[in-house]
Amino acid sequence: MNKPFNRNYHTHCYLCKHAKGTIEDYIVEAINKEFKAIGISDHAPLDFLEDRSLRMASEDYPLYLKQMKQALVKYYEYILIYKSLEIEYFDFLHKHYENLLNELDYLILGQHYIKDNNQLKSVFKIKTYAELKIYKETIINAMRTNYFKIIAHPDIFLINQPEISEEVLSLCKEIILVAKEENVLLEINANGFRKKKHDRNGKTLYQYPRKEFWKLVKDMNAPAIISADAHHPKHLSDYAISEAQKMIRDLSLEVEEELVLD
Ligand SMILES: [Zn+2]
Ligand SMILES: [Zn+2]
Repeated sequence: MNKPFNRNYHTHCYLCKHAKGTIEDYIVEAINKEFKAIGISDHAPLDFLEDRSLRMASEDYPLYLKQMKQALVKYYEYILIYKSLEIEYFDFLHKHYENLLNELDYLILGQHYIKDNNQLKSVFKIKTYAELKIYKETIINAMRTNYFKIIAHPDIFLINQPEISEEVLSLCKEIILVAKEENVLLEINANGFRKKKHDRNGKTLYQYPRKEFWKLVKDMNAPAIISADAHHPKHLSDYAISEAQKMIRDLSLEVEEELVLD
């Protein structure tokens, strides 16, 4: 039997424009489900990215902080509440991460873009070995900064690889090794189980998580955690969480239940 999933550190809200519910809705749901901790981590505003319909607007960030503060005052006796953001890594934003960490408890790295020849490319379009390698380097550089506690869906870059070659597995190993060295949690993202499966060269696969990646995490004994990546309050305890738990059971992969903050 699995241990109960009763701490979730990856939670969105309506401010990113593709999640449902207010911060309070998620916290109340977590309390009703007897959760011990919830971390609110909506998609961070980054104005230079042209996907403003998929992330919080920078104008809304003060409101986000205000709503989290109000929720903390109202619910701190019932559940541990953490303030966070899910954000991409870019090397020119170090000061920005430091500023964010002055008011937040932790940051989640959710790398949705790579920079290829000075062009931004969506991770959903990553296909070639050169692109996979840029993703790997970006993630490693991000982990080396120590700004991030959790790497959201680290295996997202495998989305267009129906078969994972030995050389691509080596890239995965490099990521996993650095996560272990830096003690950054690799996230088994349950939201992948809620997404439509992909057809790739006749193979029907989840976009993520990818078992091949998590088998390496198990073999290399690197730190991992399951996240709901909740975009609806009911995602805190739905079938996708059970799928994630089933996957780790199948792989005998031990995961952290609690995020330790220093
Ligand atoms: Zn999202
Ligand atoms: Zn997310």
